Amino acid sequence: MNIILLGPPGAGKGTQARKLVDEHGMVQLSTGDMLRDARNSGTKMGRVVADVMDRGALVTDEIVIGLIAERLEREPESVVFIFDGFPRTLAQADALGDLLDRMGRTLGVVIEIAVDDEALVARISGRFTCEGCGEVYHDTIKPPVKDGICEECGSTEFSRRADDNEESLRVRLLAYYKQTSPLIGYYHAKHLLKSVDGMADMDTVSAEISRILAEA
Ligand code: ADP
Ligand code: ADP
Ligand code: ZN
Repeated sequence: MNIILLGPPGAGKGTQARKLVDEHGMVQLSTGDMLRDARNSGTKMGRVVADVMDRGALVTDEIVIGLIAERLEREPESVVFIFDGFPRTLAQADALGDLLDRMGRTLGVVIEIAVDDEALVARISGRFTCEGCGEVYHDTIKPPVKDGICEECGSTEFSRRADDNEESLRVRLLAYYKQTSPLIGYYHAKHLLKSVDGMADMDTVSAEISRILAEA
């Protein structure tokens, strides 16, 4: 049973996806991470997506669907996926449905993580990530226990995203409301939507998600 985590930038999708990987052995498919890898690869496609991402706009459906299709085909049948940051448009949602159907896979539940806009600015501006293992931290909400050392892997290298600034966040939020939030209605109509209060602390959100998965 595959799941989608849906929510605005900074809602906590990546944080919760990592917990699901740790606790339930699922495989996280983050199109944001795939696109960041693509831009670092120095290919022509990488150069095209870099500019779009830095502006905070959405990369074309064609590119994103292509990346996902390629990944899905590579993984063994037994794998359970968590889609993090995908789909982000109705066209992507339709394409995902077709891909899963063709592979004999099902979508079990779509979990919307709802967070107030004002909280997103604070989350995004304090976010940083471990270069070694991808663990997501926050300057004040979730700093590493030992300053400057990743709790998960011991790395001392961290990075901040070029698009994690207020200006880009404004564009990303607009893209979310205009292009992605219609998916809430789309999955509601398919009886797949569950919502969690993303304003709660990380552990509470995580417990709520585990409860939903146990019932699904
Ligand atoms: P966030 O943490 O803000 O939700 P992501 O890491 O998921 O952001 O995505 C970062 C950027 O990558 C987006 O602003 C967008 O430019 C691009 N991107 C990621 N996923 C998609 C997608 N499914 N469709 C189009 N663009 C995407
Ligand atoms: P997304 O993948 O949806 O963009 P992240 O998981 O990267 O979001 O979280 C964005 C920032 O907010 C990170 O710095 C993370 O540590 C922090 N964060 C995640 N969940 C919560 C929460 N429930 N309460 C407060 N801060 C959170
Ligand atoms: Zn680490």
